[in-house]
Amino acid sequence: MYINDKNLNELEELIVNLGEKKFRAKQIYRQIHKNAINSFEQMTDLSLKLRKKLIDNFKFPKINVLKTYSSKVDSTKKYLLQLEDKNIVEAVFMNYDDRKTICISSQIGCKMGCKFCASTKNGFVRNLTVSELIEQVYLLERINGNINNIVIMGIGEPLDNFDNIIKFLNLLTDKKGRNLSHRSITISTSGLCNRIYDLADTDLDIKLAVSLHYAFDYKRRQYMPIANKFSIDDIIKATDYYFKKTNRRVSFEYVVIDELNNTKDDIKELTRLFKHKNVHINLIPLNPIEEFKYEKTKNNVIDKMQENLNKNGLNATIRHSMGIDIDASCGQLRNNYMR
Ligand code: SAH
Repeated sequence: MYINDKNLNELEELIVNLGEKKFRAKQIYRQIHKNAINSFEQMTDLSLKLRKKLIDNFKFPKINVLKTYSSKVDSTKKYLLQLEDKNIVEAVFMNYDDRKTICISSQIGCKMGCKFCASTKNGFVRNLTVSELIEQVYLLERINGNINNIVIMGIGEPLDNFDNIIKFLNLLTDKKGRNLSHRSITISTSGLCNRIYDLADTDLDIKLAVSLHYAFDYKRRQYMPIANKFSIDDIIKATDYYFKKTNRRVSFEYVVIDELNNTKDDIKELTRLFKHKNVHINLIPLNPIEEFKYEKTKNNVIDKMQENLNKNGLNATIRHSMGIDIDASCGQLRNNYMR
């Protein structure tokens, strides 16, 4: 049985069932979540006998770093991670403004089928487990030191792996364990509206980003199959609810694809949708992937879009691509080897 996915209550019960004192659970929990330790041998504050007992009863998931890609243009690193069942995911480490951020995957592959995104091109394999999600974070911390921010923007649709993601985030934010602040965590969704309500109703008040990308439903449906299920109007209702419940301003991600979604009409519609709302629009240059024929968005195109939106009173910023030379930018992660 894996041990790193247990909350303190569960761990206490397991430890007591082994005939040990309850407070031992706290010690073990701290070693796992505060010190990012992933072997019982290293828990030197426990007796040898207890360590042996733990080894006999529990295990840690092993994630293998198959390859590390280091960007030459910035300090971004991309990790090709192999799970115990040999499946592969990717995670990214970014270090800018003295803040260490990691971008993690939530699933092996993705069901969403967005036309412009590499993560979905090999289909969906399975959800990542809580144990794997936790280990993905702590593994990157062991390599890079303590992390300030976590963005769940790697491979997969996190809200499609809802229960595991919630338990994982409850563990990371637990004051008795890792104690990561809620505002240092961002979850990005392609717009699973029912799950946005569910997320708002949890005790978590993490940051929410929604991959909008188009101002009109008819356009969005051509590139994002999820748009057939939930309209932009549904998204706005759900994000209004999220803001009301958490008081966190929602971000809308908008990959600018020249002449496709940056026309006068698109800008007018975005303005109509968001002018009186406390939201943030994050413009993203399209990062090229083999299967989507458009070119990387030119700087002047994205700058112009920002200028137009700002002129109309919207709060729009640009997300600069990190690690572009190692395919580590938004939408470029996949569950196989590229080279
Ligand atoms: N499935 C979630 C989490 C992934 S986040 C979601 O869709 O939000 C990854 C972000 O990168 C999303 O906003 C996604 O739409 C965006 N993206 C996908 N392909 C891209 C590409 N080729 N260039 C730039 N951004 C892309």
